[in-house]
Amino acid sequence: MGMKDDWRLLHNDIEYLKKAELNPTDGEEICRHTRHLRCCKFCLEPVQDNPYQWWFLPLNLSCCICEECYNDFKEDFEWKKLDGWDIEWGE
Ligand SMILES: [Zn+2]
Repeated sequence: MGMKDDWRLLHNDIEYLKKAELNPTDGEEICRHTRHLRCCKFCLEPVQDNPYQWWFLPLNLSCCICEECYNDFKEDFEWKKLDGWDIEWGE
């Protein structure tokens, strides 16, 4: 199955994630700091309040990407992984 057939890519608003810089974080941090990030942008995996569940966030915190989708799509999207220390959560 080619990448273009992957059901997780059937969104019309993922183009902006091409070549994005992504910060790694975990489910516990996301639950602590945000209310709008509830599931993976691609596969809709729910965010759990769990320090062992890894997530990847673009700088504007517009969405979150689960570890599996990150690994599956990182080459095609040419993602740049940051160190995770510079997340500005805001309120
Ligand atoms: Zn996912």
